Amino acid sequence: MTMLSSSSELYVKSLTEKKKEWQSDAACKEALPEVFFSDDEKLIAQAKLICRGCEVRAECLEYAIATRPANGVWGGMSERQLSRIQRLIKSGRNEEASVKKTVEEILHK
Ligand code: SF4
Repeated sequence: MTMLSSSSELYVKSLTEKKKEWQSDAACKEALPEVFFSDDEKLIAQAKLICRGCEVRAECLEYAIATRPANGVWGGMSERQLSRIQRLIKSGRNEEASVKKTVEEILHK
């Protein structure tokens, strides 16, 4: 399920297609899945640490915010953080611009 309106379907589609390209450079590709898909705070912190050094974090974070994966840590954000960000963006008018702006703000904190 996506969080975006039908007018943003092309944006979501392009992000999904790009995912195939950046995933091969993901820092998590060799990590144990349970580190990224856990409710354990220590494992979530470990996953976020891996994300901090990931060269495709921006792409991953944009994908996660825009497409709302079912669960897990994406782009250095926990499931709870992603849900909060998505709720805030959903209330905005230009969802694509809001997603990009939010990714920039998170990465430059
Ligand atoms: S940012 Fe994190 S979850 Fe996303 S690809 Fe990189 S290591 Fe994996």
